[in-house]
Amino acid sequence: MRRDAFPIPVVPDLSGTAPHRSLCTDCGISRSSEPQRCATACQFIKPDHAALETRVHGRARDAARPDELHFGPFLSLHRASLAAPREGAQWSGITTRIAERLLESGRVDAVLTMGRDPDDRWRPVPVLVTEPGQLAACRGMKMGYAPLLALLEPARALGHRRLAVIGIPCQVHALRALEAELGFERLYVIGTPCSDNTSTENFYRFLALLSDEPETIDYLEFRADYHVELRQRGVVREIPFLQLPLSRLPADFFPLTCRTCVDYTNVLADITVGYMGGEGEQWLVVRNQRGAELLALLGDEVRLAAPGSAGRRAGAVRGFLANLERAAGGLPLRRMPAWLRPLVGWLMPRIGPRGLEFARARVEMKALETVLHLRREMPRRLRRLVPEHVWRLAAPYGVKPAQGERRESVNDGRPR
Ligand SMILES: Cc1cc2nc3c(=O)[nH]c(=O)nc-3n(C[C@H](O)[C@H](O)[C@H](O)COP(=O)(O)OP(=O)(O)OC[C@H]3O[C@@H](n4cnc5c(N)ncnc54)[C@H](O)[C@@H]3O)c2cc1C
Ligand code: SF4
Ligand code: SF4
Repeated sequence: MRRDAFPIPVVPDLSGTAPHRSLCTDCGISRSSEPQRCATACQFIKPDHAALETRVHGRARDAARPDELHFGPFLSLHRASLAAPREGAQWSGITTRIAERLLESGRVDAVLTMGRDPDDRWRPVPVLVTEPGQLAACRGMKMGYAPLLALLEPARALGHRRLAVIGIPCQVHALRALEAELGFERLYVIGTPCSDNTSTENFYRFLALLSDEPETIDYLEFRADYHVELRQRGVVREIPFLQLPLSRLPADFFPLTCRTCVDYTNVLADITVGYMGGEGEQWLVVRNQRGAELLALLGDEVRLAAPGSAGRRAGAVRGFLANLERAAGGLPLRRMPAWLRPLVGWLMPRIGPRGLEFARARVEMKALETVLHLRREMPRRLRRLVPEHVWRLAAPYGVKPAQGERRESVNDGRPR
């Protein structure tokens, strides 16, 4: 692919290495002029999720409101699609279109988002975009990490005062923690959910298990109907989750960061644009007035509906927990007999949790995964990294804090 096919104006200098930390997704802060700010910004060092929710949205999540325990504070939930889906988008392209509208309407001077390496379609590269037409090249999911926030200082230096950032939760956490000191006049944050990220190199190993020609796969998505969709040479393949070669992946395929990250739904964004509550369409979580303003920018370009919800998640979540516990005890995953898989693969989209119930199930699975993996690999971090709402999500499955694992439970006189 030609390098000049991507007219991208500002990319960071990635020649220096980021300081090594045991839990780090290289969000870019360690590459800034003040890398010590990681200590207060990082969700893996000293998070205070409830305080940040209050600062950003005016209140922390309220477990008494339907679905806030799972999805964080919000004003409204929608099932959504662009009436004219965009070429190259991961779903219909709502994320990029909102950013285009921000530039077109003059609300922002620049958009900070993830482009792709011109020589490697799966490798993310942070970019600062000032022309709406340049955003089309940023559509679609890339796998891996890249230091998005390393471009905040260059954005300031270029004189941009009003900025939009599209980011995954660990990036948005650091951005929000530093928002006040960054000094932008206006900041819009468009978030996507994120789970099970891994390095681009690891991702290629996964693709190689799916195809003899992994380099020709140009789209992959884990859909909410329990299928992975692959696009390769113009052909679409749909593989039921149960048929995936996941057991052939090494135990450290997903880094500990992504196995223990507690913010699946990007709670600190103004609007979250995902798919998992959308039953085959996109799923929007409008979190505050700025998020409502972002959605309104799409006008009648976007079709909205109330999200549906069906099935019961408890059985699926319990099965997931049982496998997590077996893996933690060094036992192989309990796998379904081969003859039964096609039948169950057919049944799951029909009777398994769907719509919002699917999204709740995924959030609960992530909460359980966080606790079990930290307990096994970094037990001393549990107390600091696991917020109260994660314990509440895990409690119905019998996963409860042991002595010293919950922040409030340790009376050692230290400030919290
Ligand atoms: C690793 C990963 C895991 C995800 N897992 C889920 C999930 O489990 N459930 C769910 O509902 N949604 C998930 N998403 C979000 C989902 O894949 C779509 O990106 C989202 O629904 C937006 O679709 P769209 O058509 O509006 O996006 P588009 O208009 O195509 O834009 C996609 C945007 O995502 C950004 N982006 C792409 N790759 C990366 C990356 N590696 N790092 C940071 N930003 C990136 C791009 O900059 C672009 O702005 C995940 C995204 C990523 C990157
Ligand atoms: S703030 Fe970012 S760069 Fe710093 S340790 Fe955390 S993830 Fe890594
Ligand atoms: S799963 Fe969490 S830690 Fe990993 S890349 Fe996504 S947001 Fe970051």
